[in-house]
Amino acid sequence: MNDAQLTRYSRHLLLKQVDFTGQQRLLASRVLVVGLGGLGSPLTLYLASSGVGHLVLCDDDQVDLGNLQRQIVHRTADIGRDKVASARDTLLALNPEIEITPLKARLAGAVLREQVRQVDVVVDASDNFATRAALNAACVIEQKPLVSGAVIRMQGQVTVFQAGGPCYGCLYSGVPDGTEEGADQEDCRHQGVLAPVAGIIACVQATETLKLLLGVGDTLAGRLLLLDALAMAWRTVKVLKDPACQVCGVRP
Ligand SMILES: [Zn+2]
Repeated sequence: MNDAQLTRYSRHLLLKQVDFTGQQRLLASRVLVVGLGGLGSPLTLYLASSGVGHLVLCDDDQVDLGNLQRQIVHRTADIGRDKVASARDTLLALNPEIEITPLKARLAGAVLREQVRQVDVVVDASDNFATRAALNAACVIEQKPLVSGAVIRMQGQVTVFQAGGPCYGCLYSGVPDGTEEGADQEDCRHQGVLAPVAGIIACVQATETLKLLLGVGDTLAGRLLLLDALAMAWRTVKVLKDPACQVCGVRP
């Protein structure tokens, strides 16, 4: 690290859980973030500012005026631009030292698996069940940790799926595998959301991602954290591995 980096990351270097070695590790890390909306915006800002060395950003959408209330990585001037391009510009303005690979696509199948294989951690910041299921399946096969978050109205939930533990399929048995017609019907895209509630869940996702990269602390693996922002109360639900899970269980 050069002098500027020592200054930029000084508050990390003061933490014994990060220190010089941990910061070097973050700088050498590669993370895939799927979705640059209400969750992906705050969490990529924190991953970039924290010095995660390579961010692969995936989203097939463009910035819309209605996004700006909560999707804080985009600016008013970005309306109409691809979200991946808009996010890349904001993140590089914040930290020009990191590398960003923008992928304007809805990844699936072999292409998705190839992207998952190349990263240390995958972050699910998507807004629909089809993408969630596809990401989960790819992470189970490639044995990569998946940091999953969701937000709706004034509620949020966040967890981590890691190899050997329960997966998204164990939590929601019967969720579509991403290929079925109508898999998007019960998603969060057309629901209201109080802007900073997305930020709270995104910040938990960013924290878990950094912990996974650093190899410190206890992650949310096996625990689903539920937020009721109206009561401002958190609840923890234990998540068990389902031996009959269609994604990670023993196949017949
Ligand atoms: Zn499973």
